Amino acid sequence: MNELKGLIYNLQPFAVHDGPGIRTLIYMKGCPLRCLWCSTPQTQKMGYEIIHIESHCRKCGRCAEVCSNGAIMIPPEGNLMIDRKRCTYCAKCIEICPHQALELAGKYMTVPELFDEIEKDQPFFRRSNGGITMGGGEATMQHEFVAEFLKKCKQHYIHTAMETCGHIAWEHLEKLLTYLDLIYLDIKHMDSPMHKTLTGVANDFVLDNARKVCSSHPVIFRIPVVPGINDSYENISATAKFAAAMGENLLRIELLPYHQFGAQTYFRLGRKYELSGIEPPEDSHMRRLKILVESFGIKAQIGG
Ligand code: SF4
Ligand code: SF4
Repeated sequence: MNELKGLIYNLQPFAVHDGPGIRTLIYMKGCPLRCLWCSTPQTQKMGYEIIHIESHCRKCGRCAEVCSNGAIMIPPEGNLMIDRKRCTYCAKCIEICPHQALELAGKYMTVPELFDEIEKDQPFFRRSNGGITMGGGEATMQHEFVAEFLKKCKQHYIHTAMETCGHIAWEHLEKLLTYLDLIYLDIKHMDSPMHKTLTGVANDFVLDNARKVCSSHPVIFRIPVVPGINDSYENISATAKFAAAMGENLLRIELLPYHQFGAQTYFRLGRKYELSGIEPPEDSHMRRLKILVESFGIKAQIGG
C-alpha cells in the first residue's frame, strides 16, 4: 500500500504572527488562486519548481552540461535561462551547482516524517502556548494528507491553526475543521468581478465558506491591504460590514500591509511580477482603515 505523502515547500520555526505563542509554519504546495501580490509564488504550483538565484550564479555552465533534457541555456551575453517545459525535475543541475544557485521547491513527506520535524519544536510550543499553522499555498488542496497530519497533532495536544484562501470545496474544509483550533481566512475583495481580476477566481465560494466556518469555529479574517487595489474605504467598509454579521466566532480583522518581499522570487521562477510599481501603504492610511473597521464593532489590528 502506498503511504500518504504531502508536497511541502518549507517549514518555518519560531513564527509569532500566525497564531498564539511560538509556532512552526508549514508551507504546503498548491493553490487555486493566483493573487497578483502573492509573496510566496513558489508555493502556487502543485508540483516541483526550479528556483534560480541570479546573485549566486557564476555562469560556469556545469548545470547546462548535466541537463540531459537541454532545459538550461546560458547565452554569451545575458542571464541563465531555464526552459521549464523541458525540465523533469531530476535535480542533477542542483546537485552539481558549486554555488548553490539552484534550488528545488517542493519535497514529498509522509505524515510521520513531517510530524518528526515539528515535534522538535514542541518544548517551545508548550512554554508559549504555541503550536503549528498550516499555510502555503492552500493547505486544503492536500486535504487528505493535512487531515492525517492535524489529527496526529491533536493526539499530541498541539494547538493547530490554518490559513486559507477560502476558495475550496466545503467538504474538504469541513473535514479539516475537526482538527483545527483556529482559522485565518483571507477576504481579498468584496466585489466579485474585481476579486476575479485580482486572484483569478470569483469570491462566492470564499464568502460562503466564511459564513459556514464562522458558525462553528474561531476565525480571524485577513485583508492584504494593497494600495489602489483593495484599500478603498468602500471595500474595507463592505468587508467590515460582512464581518459584523458573522457573530462572536469572528475574533478580529487583521489588516496586512502590502509588501514586496516576494517580488524577487517571481524573477527566480522566470515569471514577471505584475505589481512592481506599487508601494506599501502609508502607516497613517493603515491607521485610518483600522478605525474604519472598528467603527463596525469589529476588533482590528494592523499586521498579523
Ligand atoms: S552550475 Fe550554478 S553557478 Fe554554474 S551556471 Fe549553473 S546555476 Fe550558475
Ligand atoms: S532539474 Fe534536471 S531536467 Fe530540470 S533543468 Fe535541472 S538538470 Fe535539467
